Amino acid sequence: MHYYSTRKQDYKVGAAEAILQGPAPGGGLFVPSVQAEPFKLETLPAGHYRQIAATVFEKFRGDYSREDISQAIDAAYSDTGFAHPDITPLKKLEDGQHVLELYHGPTGAFKDIALQILPHLLTIAASKSGDSKEIVILAATSGDTGKAALEGFRDVKGTGIVVYFPEKGVSSVQEIQMTTQEGNNVTVAAVRGNFDHTQAGVKEIFNDAGIKSKLNGAGYRLSSANSINWGRLMPQIVYYFKAYRTLLDDGIIIPGEAVNFAVPTGNFGNILAGFYARQLGLPVNRLICASNRNNVLSDFINSGNYDSRRKLFNSLSPSMDILVSSNLERLLFEISGRDSELINTWMNELSTEGRYQIDSATLGKVQELFWSDYTGDEETLKVIADTYRDRGYLMDPHTAVGKNVLDRYLAVEKDRHQSIILSTASPFKFTKTTIKALFGQNAYRNLNELELIRVLAGKTGTRSPACLAGLDQKPILHRQVIEPADMPGHLLELLNPG
Ligand SMILES: *Cc1c(COP(=O)(O)O)cnc(C)c1O
Repeated sequence: MHYYSTRKQDYKVGAAEAILQGPAPGGGLFVPSVQAEPFKLETLPAGHYRQIAATVFEKFRGDYSREDISQAIDAAYSDTGFAHPDITPLKKLEDGQHVLELYHGPTGAFKDIALQILPHLLTIAASKSGDSKEIVILAATSGDTGKAALEGFRDVKGTGIVVYFPEKGVSSVQEIQMTTQEGNNVTVAAVRGNFDHTQAGVKEIFNDAGIKSKLNGAGYRLSSANSINWGRLMPQIVYYFKAYRTLLDDGIIIPGEAVNFAVPTGNFGNILAGFYARQLGLPVNRLICASNRNNVLSDFINSGNYDSRRKLFNSLSPSMDILVSSNLERLLFEISGRDSELINTWMNELSTEGRYQIDSATLGKVQELFWSDYTGDEETLKVIADTYRDRGYLMDPHTAVGKNVLDRYLAVEKDRHQSIILSTASPFKFTKTTIKALFGQNAYRNLNELELIRVLAGKTGTRSPACLAGLDQKPILHRQVIEPADMPGHLLELLNPG
């Protein structure tokens, strides 16, 4: 097997090269050459998450050897890295509805699932290509990704990681998570500015040929852990199979019975993994795409018109505050019969005009599988409160967006299939919002976020994740604050290429 570029189908690379490159040259994204398959029970081994991962990765591994993959899986999904032995436990919420908890990794958000294994896939790929340079991951973060990348790459041989975050642009829990980061190959610095300034600084470094050649000369290869890398998408396919296996084992479904997945969506990575799971034969009835008030995607799925020309709102589900969902390009490529010419047309329109409209045949295919709607902040708070009151289950605001859109879907379509809501973050990662939902606007206003973690645990009798609860005891290890203009200089000084 090999990997195509969505915008240049005759450009093919192996799996390791696709993961090493990240985006394809000329702006496309890599997609696997796998063919759609019918359901086979053999793709669902009983047993640990790691066994299901090995079976799923087998379809995509290409030039990675089976040993490479199993070594990466063992390193990523160990019982010490994840706080739950099932890695992604499935919990029953109510009749016909289940929650797949994806947040038991080291940072409390679902990005851990991909970022725990990506460093291993990358270093194996580099050694295959004969490149002995140290991989330096450079990232600008508005919160969750930076911390998950730091935990994934810390102390991984042959790699280093540098994360810049906006001094006033992350929550205090997120800031402390990053400034207390341990590891002998990690650097964290705050940037005086907002996320746009920070991101612009990182882009400038990536686009500077002079910096690149200096670093190459000194034995470094700059890379990114961005969510458009195939190596971040592939690991997410696994938990769709794992959830299905759990429902089978619990006798809730019979082999081959189709289920729905409801996914709180931002960059369209998580839900696209569900699409690929279905391509591999997983019996998926509907993929329910849940947006927040930044409802570009739900407008698109309902109309075929992707229009990013609108104001970005800061919502209570910040990890979904996004106007351009990059991974949608992969879905359109697959659904249009891998027509790279069409993809070029639409993506060029998106970059020049901020919008594109797909044809009605393609839209029909999208709507056969996807259903979408959105949830505003007021409703998000109400869902958190109602679900806790009625079911005794505490969920984070992103998950609440998913639950609300699923309820609407089930009511509108009168669908009786079992449904699985993907829970993307621990409720303790967004304590301000969960506390506000449960106890009202004015409760505990004088407490900081770390104190709120304790309040939420005490009041709900829920254990807070160890990775968040212990934060106030950890020493601050990274105190540097730099100007946006000094970012290239900071990096060069750090790596000291002379
Ligand atoms: C990143 C993230 C999302 C969005 O996932 P996509 O793959 O970008 O659609 C949703 N919830 C949380 C908590 C996240 O961190």
